[in-house]
Amino acid sequence: MSHFVRVRFAPSPTGPLHLGGIRTALYNYLFAKKYGGTFVLRIEDTDQKRFVPNSESYIIKTLKWCHIEPDEGVGYGGPYYPYHQSKRLNIYRYYINKLLEKGDAYYAFETDEDLDRKRKEYKEIGLTFSYNYENRNKLDNSLNMTNKQLKKKLGACSSYVIRFKINPGEKLKMHDIIRGCITVDTDHLDDKILLKSYGGATYHLASTVDDHLMKITHVIRGEEWLSSLALHSLLYRSFGWESPNFAHLPLILRKDGKGKISKRDADMLDFPIYPMQWMNNNTIIPGYKELGYFPDAFVNMLALLGWNPGGEREIFSLQELIKSFSLKRIRKSGVFFDIKKVYWFNKRYLIKKKEEVFSFLCKKVQKNTISKYKTDYFWKVINLTINRIHFIHEIWEHSFYFFIRPSFYDPYFFNKIKNNHEKIILKLNDAKSSLYKINKFISVNLKLFFQNYKENKCRIKMMQLFRLSLVGSLKGVDIFIIFEMIGKEESIQRLDNLINKIKEKI
Ligand code: GLU
Repeated sequence: MSHFVRVRFAPSPTGPLHLGGIRTALYNYLFAKKYGGTFVLRIEDTDQKRFVPNSESYIIKTLKWCHIEPDEGVGYGGPYYPYHQSKRLNIYRYYINKLLEKGDAYYAFETDEDLDRKRKEYKEIGLTFSYNYENRNKLDNSLNMTNKQLKKKLGACSSYVIRFKINPGEKLKMHDIIRGCITVDTDHLDDKILLKSYGGATYHLASTVDDHLMKITHVIRGEEWLSSLALHSLLYRSFGWESPNFAHLPLILRKDGKGKISKRDADMLDFPIYPMQWMNNNTIIPGYKELGYFPDAFVNMLALLGWNPGGEREIFSLQELIKSFSLKRIRKSGVFFDIKKVYWFNKRYLIKKKEEVFSFLCKKVQKNTISKYKTDYFWKVINLTINRIHFIHEIWEHSFYFFIRPSFYDPYFFNKIKNNHEKIILKLNDAKSSLYKINKFISVNLKLFFQNYKENKCRIKMMQLFRLSLVGSLKGVDIFIIFEMIGKEESIQRLDNLINKIKEKI
């Protein structure tokens, strides 16, 4: 394959992109870049009824955030302008006329109500109504009219749609790069609408015409369009055009077995399905970006959601993904989405982004106006705590106690010690003076000091008390390291603070 590869991502502006949509964009991008080809963004906005404002800018921003920007299309320009289907209506009319002239399409005058009535009639006798070769000769369409009758009807401004005429009796053979050979019996196809009653093209007509005119070589799209492949193949044949290659991507499924991930479930699921935040009826639905995921971790995870290059390796940069990507290694069957895996990816990327953690932590510390710490100290803190976090913003919560005194004590443990206050205060005072005597306030010496506590039970209790005084809760890294890092004076001050707090509460 060469630089002639041209692929397109063709979303409809009916809302934000969900995981399936952004994965389709990514696979198109990877395939284009692998072959030095062109990645086109086309907006399929022929259905004005489903139009949702801001979807288009959301799509463009999301592709940017993921670093998978188009080379051509909406927002980027290019030789096949316009890239909004709503601006290409004359083109579709021109091509529908060609099909009408050839006798491969026809006018149909039934209204929606007429068709509903038909469906009902058929249902009553246990049949399903289809607008197809079996029924079209009995219906109100141009196949059953003379030219004169048709002209009269059109002249009277009757509303109509234009349907594609499917000939029965053929076993249509098609090829999908992922699924191999597919055969469809044309007897099972109905005469789909190509032009709607208000004159707008349907997806089938518009996307076929555009893929041809925009010289798309590979159509990579979701599995939900597999059922349209036969119709699209017949349209290419009817126009006398060479069909592009097709690859239908597997569905992304919910781990709870409740089917595919869809926008409808956005607020019911316990994981985000949008890459970036989306505003819905004045509520903000946060996306992966806002929750602190890195775009490269997110993209790495998405790439492996249905594709893998073979082998055990899971961490790939965008450049490495491009290099190893192949449509043939995409799986056919649905793939389960596991938020824990995304979490895992983020952590793996976080560990490689210590510099970013460093600047985040510096800002946090500055905000708290603490200036006495040196760069080395920050790095020590980061190295001690980075394994405990998955997101940059979590660093402060896991390391604040290296910089500031706890302003709050976990009420659960605090209440536990309150009942025994006199004894506890004695012990803490005792510990304070012992700590004071330690000359070299380093973790090994502190460990030794603790070993002097006779019984095991007492030792555990003291450790909890110390931790509560230094951190405010029973969390945090090795207590001896905290002591050493914050130093003798500060440690003793924190023990004092806890003593005072206990006294206050009594
Ligand atoms: N407009 C269609 C969608 O949003 C695109 C289908 C295709 O890629 O052909 O799902």
